[in-house]
Amino acid sequence: SALLEVKNLQVRVAEREILHGLTLSVNPGEVHAIMGPNGSGKSTLSHVIAGKPGYEVTGGEILFKGEDLLAMAPDERAAKGVFLAFQYPVEIPGVATMTFLRTALNAQRKSRGEAELSTPDFLKRVREVAGSLGIPQEMLKRGVNVGFSGGEKKRNEVLQMALFQPSLCILDEMDSGLDIDALRIASEGVNALRTPDRAMVVITHYQRLLDYIVPDFVHVMSRGKVVKSGGKELALELEANGYAQYQDAAA
Ligand code: ADP
Ligand code: MG
Ligand code: MG
Repeated sequence: SALLEVKNLQVRVAEREILHGLTLSVNPGEVHAIMGPNGSGKSTLSHVIAGKPGYEVTGGEILFKGEDLLAMAPDERAAKGVFLAFQYPVEIPGVATMTFLRTALNAQRKSRGEAELSTPDFLKRVREVAGSLGIPQEMLKRGVNVGFSGGEKKRNEVLQMALFQPSLCILDEMDSGLDIDALRIASEGVNALRTPDRAMVVITHYQRLLDYIVPDFVHVMSRGKVVKSGGKELALELEANGYAQYQDAAA
């Protein structure tokens, strides 16, 4: 059965309806790309799945592993295996990245009934993953995302995913602000996390990212709905013909 099922989702932000009946079904092991122009509601969808406050769900439902996701608090969703890599990762001055990673990882392990990692085991895991992502140890001593470049912030999100091992990874415009080398490194990190029981939802408005993270399915969002779905070739068709044709269909 589906890992994530979004059924006819309607969402309001600040009294305005942003998502107008969005449906999406994601099975374990699949990578889905969501493409669409700026303002089509891509980040809104990711925020509602993660449980960010400020969104009013006025219709529809979201099931995760068959359970009502919207009834769960954000930390409960994370504990169940939902991870959102934000388009704009937040800075947390005064909390060292290493401390943040350890606290979050242990909280998650605890909620899953798993023992805390010992300090040496934790350090070993972080160093391994950080090394594979080209993240210097020095960066992990700095406040979370404080003074990180765009590329470093995105790599830090991939580092969190690799440590937390979520069953659903949502990547919101991971490519924004990345140069080609940073994009390649971050994408390799993401691809290393593809497994038969983990699914990914990759949000982007450029086809370029999908050369690196090759999706199984592509969905086009326009004005708060999925207006077309297809295979990876749909991304190339969009690159050639643009979004305007779908904007008309959604209006
Ligand atoms: P995308 O990620 O596809 O660019 P968003 O989900 O960020 O789109 O935004 C969809 C629409 O919702 C836009 O018209 C945006 O202005 C509006 N919107 C998003 N967040 C807010 C907010 N906090 N207050 C008011 N409008 C918002
Ligand atoms: Mg946007
Ligand atoms: Mg967005």
